Amino acid sequence: MSREKVNKQRLKNILKHKKKMKITNSNEPASKNFLISEYWCPTVTPEKIDFDMPDCLAAAVQVFRDFFNVPWQITSVIRPNDASWSPHVNGQAVDSVSADTSLWGEILIKIRTEFQNWKTSQLVKDVVATGCNVLLIENGCLHLSVRTTNLNSTAELGNIYVGEWVNDGSVYGLNTAYSSNTI
Ligand SMILES: [Zn+2]
Repeated sequence: MSREKVNKQRLKNILKHKKKMKITNSNEPASKNFLISEYWCPTVTPEKIDFDMPDCLAAAVQVFRDFFNVPWQITSVIRPNDASWSPHVNGQAVDSVSADTSLWGEILIKIRTEFQNWKTSQLVKDVVATGCNVLLIENGCLHLSVRTTNLNSTAELGNIYVGEWVNDGSVYGLNTAYSSNTI
């Protein structure tokens, strides 16, 4: 991709980050297979508070659900008591897994392979096209978010960060990046 095209793509993705979805206890659809209330009352941390979420995150979760074609559950979105650097503090990140958790181990291995092959992965490309630019395996679940710093500047997909995060007890946890700067 030419630099000009990459810059255009980045601008488009930045604009996508800015579109917000009101997360409330609403049975309106957030995307094809998810209700807005599933983000308001996720299965593991049901805070049940209203907030604004980048709507690209709902689109990104749907991309994973479509890719694996199995029911999917939102486990955690807003967590006001997280560390201040966590994007979950104000609901700018979504954690999810397959609804049938017995399938998750196998799916997780497939996600890791896609992430490691981010340059050629159609899954990663489709997720980044939504505007979501942080794709992580986080303590064994899928974590999707948007941010503007600590990204890899890539010729392939613009500014992204694809990797894994493990809570190892240190302040920021242990990060492993799969994406790398390519420009
Ligand atoms: Zn997360």
